[in-house]
Amino acid sequence: MANIIAIANNKGGVLKTSLSVNLAGLFATHGKKVLIVDGDNQGNVSLSFGENPDTFESTIYDVMIGSAEAKDSIVNLYEGIDVLPANDDLQFLEFDVLTNRNKYKKPFQLLKDSLSSLKGYDVIIVDGPPNLGLMAGNILNFTHEVLIPFQPEKYSMRSLVKMLNFIVDFREKINPSLQVKGVVATLVDRRTALHDQILKECRKYCLLNHITLYDTVIPRSIRGASGVAYENLPVTLIQNQNSLKTAYSQLFEELNLS
Ligand code: ADP
Ligand code: MG
Repeated sequence: MANIIAIANNKGGVLKTSLSVNLAGLFATHGKKVLIVDGDNQGNVSLSFGENPDTFESTIYDVMIGSAEAKDSIVNLYEGIDVLPANDDLQFLEFDVLTNRNKYKKPFQLLKDSLSSLKGYDVIIVDGPPNLGLMAGNILNFTHEVLIPFQPEKYSMRSLVKMLNFIVDFREKINPSLQVKGVVATLVDRRTALHDQILKECRKYCLLNHITLYDTVIPRSIRGASGVAYENLPVTLIQNQNSLKTAYSQLFEELNLS
C-alpha cells in the first residue's frame, strides 16, 4: 500500500503546493512512483508543471461525486509523477454533497472510497486547500500523515496551535490513525529577528507537545517567488543547483520518507 502524506494548513500562501510538488519531484528522482492529489480548486499542482487545470476532462471533483473513476481522471505530469487534478469545479463539491445527503451519507469518506482501489504508487502526496472545509476533512480522513508548513510571522503560532488542535480533534472523532508527521518552517528570512524569535517559540511548543519541527527551513527566495512562472517545473526537477533546491533536498533527507 502506498504511503499517504498530506500537506495541510488552513492558510494560503504558506507553500503547501510548493512542498507537494517539490517533494514529489524528489521522490521521482529517487525512482519512486508518485501520485499527487490536488485538493485545492486553484489547480496549482498542474500549473506547477505547466499544465492548464481547465483542460482536463474530469477532475477530483467528478471522482468524489461519483461521476468519474480515479484511474480515468489521473494524468501523467512527469516521469514517475501523476496527478489527480483539481480545478474550479471543486468549489461545487460542498454544495453538491450537503444538498444531497441521501446520496452522500458519509461526506468525509468520499476521497478515501474513490481512491481505495488505486494501485501502483509508492507514495501519494495530497496538496490541501487553504481552509478546513469538506475537502480538508476528506483529506485528513484519507491520509496517514500530515506535514504542516508554518510561515513564521506575527500571530502565526496562534494559528499553528489551532491547526494542531484541530488535527487532534479530527483524530479523536473521525480518523484514529491520523499522525502529525511534523512541522516545516517556510518562507523564512534568517536575517529577520522576528522570524528567529517565532521559530524559537515554535520549537519550544513543538518540543513540549512531542511534535517534530524540522531543522531544515525553506527560505524565502526570489527564485521561489518567480520559479513557476518561467520554468514550468518544480525547482527539485530543474538541473542546475540553487539554494532552494538544496533546502528541499535537505528536508527530504530529514523527513526520511524514501
Ligand atoms: P500555498 O499552496 O500554501 O497557497 P504556494 O506553494 O502556492 O502556497 O506558494 C505561495 C506563493 O509563494 C506562490 O506564488 C509561489 O510562487 C511563492 N513561492 C514559492 N516558494 C517560494 C519561496 N521559497 N520564496 C518566496 N516565494 C515562494
Ligand atoms: Mg496551494
